[in-house]
Amino acid sequence: RQAAYAEMRDIEPFTRDGTRIQVMMNAGLRDDIANLALVGADGIGLFRTEFQFLVSATMPARERQTRLYRDVLDAAGDRPVIFRTVDIGGDKAVPYLDSAQSEFDENPAMGWRALRLALEREGLLKAQARALLEASAGKSLYVMFPMVSEPWEFDAAKAVFDRQLAYLKSQKKLLPEAIRYGAMLEVPALAETLDILLPKISFLSVGTNDLTQFLFAADRANPKLAERYDWLSPAILRFLARVTQATAGSGVDLGICGEMGGRRLEALALLGLGFRRFSITPVAVGPIKELVRKVDLSQITAIMKQLLSSPTASLRSELQAWAEAQGI
Ligand code: PEP
Ligand code: MG
Repeated sequence: RQAAYAEMRDIEPFTRDGTRIQVMMNAGLRDDIANLALVGADGIGLFRTEFQFLVSATMPARERQTRLYRDVLDAAGDRPVIFRTVDIGGDKAVPYLDSAQSEFDENPAMGWRALRLALEREGLLKAQARALLEASAGKSLYVMFPMVSEPWEFDAAKAVFDRQLAYLKSQKKLLPEAIRYGAMLEVPALAETLDILLPKISFLSVGTNDLTQFLFAADRANPKLAERYDWLSPAILRFLARVTQATAGSGVDLGICGEMGGRRLEALALLGLGFRRFSITPVAVGPIKELVRKVDLSQITAIMKQLLSSPTASLRSELQAWAEAQGI
């Protein structure tokens, strides 16, 4: 397995018609960082900071958070790391917040979680902001907020960072060289207000795991529903096509960080819809880089347009047949 990784590690993911696709990886633990060099990813496109909270019996102290973020940045070197602020609450319950969690959360995925919780527990977000800003002193910091449902939630979260930054400045501390803020698009409602959100952000990352469950109203953890809806169904793909159209020309860097992006036919479809940045599970990085080398973007763009104009229940078999005919 190590040998297979080494072979794919140095592949430069250029498409046949010469576009460089960003293939980043998802991570969440200190131990994951070694994978970055092992699989040859372009960076960490989703660092799930809640993992440190989930494995801890008590709220991780700010200094512990700072240490983790610093270690991740040190290991990543020049490669960018996108830190997602905590996505806890709901189904990712932590014991030290239990008393504050709503007893009314019958649908925890749609409950008091992620940014919703962080904006009310401002101390939690403040500590995380300070830890991220301090860990990134002299470096670039990428911050991404989860479960943004309306643009004002982004404003409120960024304001917490702005206040911490102002404080550090007043203390004459070394600041990050550059800070870029972004949002996850995983709540469908956000797609309706992209015109308001886009001018505020540097990057947008589609979280297809939650997006799919909310778009289809289908619990992502329920095994009875696991096979029910296909990522290559017209509803998802048309939704994503509208997002790429709305984002094009805005200057906002659009990416995808759900599991969908790590699968072969799904990645082909996403390339055809206009996605140029993927953040995926480390084992998929090599295979997706290999796939990218075989793709002609103008061809896949045309075939996706054609398939989506009069689609069947799922585009899977058509896309599979097309890929085979292309030798992909
Ligand atoms: C997603 O929802 O697609 C995502 C990437 O985040 P998570 O899987 O951590 O909810
Ligand atoms: Mg999510």
